[in-house]
Amino acid sequence: MLVLLTAYGLLQLAASSVLPQYRKWPAMSTYKKDIDNHTSVADNIIDYILAGPAKGEVYRRLARMTDKFGPRLCGTETLEDAINYMVDEFTQDGLENVRKEAVTVPHWVRGNEKAQLISPRSKDIALLGLGKSIATPKEGITAEALVVRSFDELHARAGEAKGKIVVYNQVWESYGQSVQYRSAGAREAAKVGAVAALVRSAASLSIYSPHTGTLSYQNGIPKIPGACITVEDAELLWRMSQRGENITIYLYMEAETLPDVVSYNVIGEIKGNLFPDEVVLVSGHLDSWDVGQGAMDDGGGAFISWEALSVIHHLGLRPKRTLQVVLWTCEELGLYGGIEYFEKHQKEAQNMNIVMESDMGTFTPQGLQFTGSDEAMKIIQYLASTLLKRLNATDVDDGADLSDVNQWPSIGVPGGSIKVENSEYFYFHHTNGDTMTVQNPDVMDLCTAVWAVTAYALADMEYMLPANRTVTVN
Ligand SMILES: [Zn+2]
Repeated sequence: MLVLLTAYGLLQLAASSVLPQYRKWPAMSTYKKDIDNHTSVADNIIDYILAGPAKGEVYRRLARMTDKFGPRLCGTETLEDAINYMVDEFTQDGLENVRKEAVTVPHWVRGNEKAQLISPRSKDIALLGLGKSIATPKEGITAEALVVRSFDELHARAGEAKGKIVVYNQVWESYGQSVQYRSAGAREAAKVGAVAALVRSAASLSIYSPHTGTLSYQNGIPKIPGACITVEDAELLWRMSQRGENITIYLYMEAETLPDVVSYNVIGEIKGNLFPDEVVLVSGHLDSWDVGQGAMDDGGGAFISWEALSVIHHLGLRPKRTLQVVLWTCEELGLYGGIEYFEKHQKEAQNMNIVMESDMGTFTPQGLQFTGSDEAMKIIQYLASTLLKRLNATDVDDGADLSDVNQWPSIGVPGGSIKVENSEYFYFHHTNGDTMTVQNPDVMDLCTAVWAVTAYALADMEYMLPANRTVTVN
């Protein structure tokens, strides 16, 4: 046993030894000259999108898909139908190496759900159960509410929580701050003996829409149902509780988790003509929540990624290295598509020039966001200031929003995202309001232009971005 373990341990050590890949990178002036040489092709791409055959096309394509399928929740046949539709679209569009890569994904089903305020007065409470939540008992849960503003307040009032429905009315500071209540609210409430958790939606503005999302349970802590409610109702319940009124709520949820199913990432390419093994990846996720149409989150990001390759292909352009578009599956329930792709392809890191994703809306573009070395940052800044100037998209922020491709920088691969004026993103995010009505055809064209010019230039420049990409040696 000991011998076996040792041998296994050695094997593991060998499998996991990681070597940095050292390359000599050229001087900044070489990159700058190369970018300058792409000015006229960038203009051609921009003209083709803003005033040529592709004008309005990304919006029309996205509307056709989202109107046809509606919301595309992970685990559903609708998502798989949409995935197969995209395979056909990529193929008919002339992309190369169109394929699906399998991903095992969870299958959570919402079922019927409702909540009512029983006292101090009767009122329906709009809600959306949180992804991965369990159901209530068949007869529902009727319990007094404990309304708190924070985890600190919950812990301070832990003695009052037993047998109650905890309602979180956390203040909106940022998505990152608010989302902690969505993911951990149920388990923190369970730790102090609560029977369910209702969480104020992670929303920067509300017109009485609940915003869904996922929760996560913890081993050894009882699972209790979790749902989100509107900002308006969270504040109403808070005001009532502050007046010392006794609040009773009825909650009914049928949510269940069925066995895992197989889903797919969809991939299409334009093969590079000089370094076909080197890749520039652009992406967005095709799955969505089961409300709205998933037009903003993340139909827009997925479709500007496809449109970028489509435009380059229809212009007859073929860059030196390969352009790859990936439409991720099952982002919403936990980044399943992106994680599987990373597991499968991380050994190709030395050839991954940059991974890009758009998942913060396709609103008016302002530039790019970037994660990588200082030298690479300077190159991206120069690229934006030169090639994206016509699009008024010259800002480059440090720190990309990488969603499904967030693991790549940990092995040295640079990451990029599109910077957009997204102050309205959390009005619509994960709600029934996430529809084509949020999208603007002209603005989507601008996003496509930023995405296509950036991806094409990075795929066609003589050198990859400078980075210490690491290679796992087996
Ligand atoms: Zn998203």
